[in-house]
Amino acid sequence: MSTVAIIGAGTAGTLVANRLAKQLPRNDTIIAIDLDNSHLYQPGLLFLPFGKANPAKLVRPRRGQLSQRVTYIQALVTKIDPKENTVYLVDHPPLHYDVAVIASGSKIVSDETEGMTGDGWLKDAFTFYTLEGGTALRNRLENFTGGRIVVNVVDMPIKCPVAPLEFCFLADAFFRDRSIRDKVEITYVTPLDGAFTKPVCSSILGSMLKDRGVELVTEFNTGSVDYQRNTLVSFDGREVPFDLAVLIPPHTGAEYVFHSPGLGDDFGFVPTDPKSLVSKVAKNIFVIGDATDLPASKAGSVAHFEGEVVSHNVQHFLNGESLEEAFDGHANCFIESGHSKAMLIDFNYDTEPLPGNFPLRFGTPLLKESRLNHLGKLAFSWVYWHVLLKGRDIPLIGSQMPTSGKRFPAGEVRSPLSTQSRDR
Ligand SMILES: Cc1cc2nc3c(=O)[nH]c(=O)nc-3n(C[C@H](O)[C@H](O)[C@H](O)COP(=O)(O)OP(=O)(O)OC[C@H]3O[C@@H](n4cnc5c(N)ncnc54)[C@H](O)[C@@H]3O)c2cc1C
Repeated sequence: MSTVAIIGAGTAGTLVANRLAKQLPRNDTIIAIDLDNSHLYQPGLLFLPFGKANPAKLVRPRRGQLSQRVTYIQALVTKIDPKENTVYLVDHPPLHYDVAVIASGSKIVSDETEGMTGDGWLKDAFTFYTLEGGTALRNRLENFTGGRIVVNVVDMPIKCPVAPLEFCFLADAFFRDRSIRDKVEITYVTPLDGAFTKPVCSSILGSMLKDRGVELVTEFNTGSVDYQRNTLVSFDGREVPFDLAVLIPPHTGAEYVFHSPGLGDDFGFVPTDPKSLVSKVAKNIFVIGDATDLPASKAGSVAHFEGEVVSHNVQHFLNGESLEEAFDGHANCFIESGHSKAMLIDFNYDTEPLPGNFPLRFGTPLLKESRLNHLGKLAFSWVYWHVLLKGRDIPLIGSQMPTSGKRFPAGEVRSPLSTQSRDR
């Protein structure tokens, strides 16, 4: 009789709990812990500022997403002691585990950037990465009649690294639809050397920004936000003025990771084996989703692909069997590009997003804007609540990137499970 403690019941924690509920013997105990009872559908936050998502409909009770077999504890985790196999919680006795699954995601740390949460916060500067921020930004955009909008990724890694670009595309469409696009300047400011990390995709996304008249400022490492002059200032003294700033603050791992001996790196992410998803700190701790230090995207789709491997490996560990080394960094993302179109990208640790079709030769177009992809993006909400969170598999789409529909450059190695590339 074993106890599996899952820390965090967001996307990754919920789907792994539900998978384990189907897999583990009845006499094993599965516990999921989270600090509140509101499960937020984060991909919906992108549409919120443009009045295309109802905030109330993005949230559902956390308990309701978990199998009846899972014991849910609503409490804040303050520490894990990997040597004592114990989780410490607020207002709850310490919990002993045989296996722990860390699924506590990443959090945005707006206070880390000088000035960000000063006078102009929620007046002239917003983030759509939270429900409150997205709702406040919606009200500001509704009344925006012209000026300079700056969308700034302060630092990497961030959740859903394409979301800030999607915001630019949707903002362009939003102001065109209101016939005031000529009165609005949109600038995308990034610490990267291009629009995105992966070269082919970066070049395509860069062209899409250009086509829409969005200025691109690269290698800008934001040091402070000055609301006296409504200006972003980089560490090397460059300045970008704004009337309205849409900021994506830096991300770290969950707070308790910093207080748990040996568990995390300097940024609170948990060192993780890239293929088996076991932690590097203890053989009975697995890591899934945004909480890992892996060079995979921090995305719900990635958590879904990892879920298959983590749930199998928890079972292998409990049975004393060797672990599967089956995750290849597979990530999959629809990029909303405005006016009911979207583009699909599919990649892994080693293969950057390539053109072709997905998942097979006659599937959805890759790296190409289409209405079909936009419908796929909208359908993702239903898939999220009814397939991903339930821990169900999607035929042909799993922990390893499908290769058959992709157009590989001549001579490229297709080794499914190597991890040379460290881009996120
Ligand atoms: C604007 C936006 C758009 C996005 N769009 C997409 C998209 O289109 N496609 C896609 O695949 N992904 C998208 N994502 C990313 C996706 O939502 C995340 O990558 C995914 O939710 C990660 O799952 P997770 O379980 O690791 O983290 P989360 O879902 O964030 O869950 C972590 C959980 O841990 C809990 N927790 C943290 N610390 C503690 C503690 N100390 N005690 C108890 N509980 C704790 C939290 O309360 C939370 O519920 C988007 C994200 C954003 C912000």
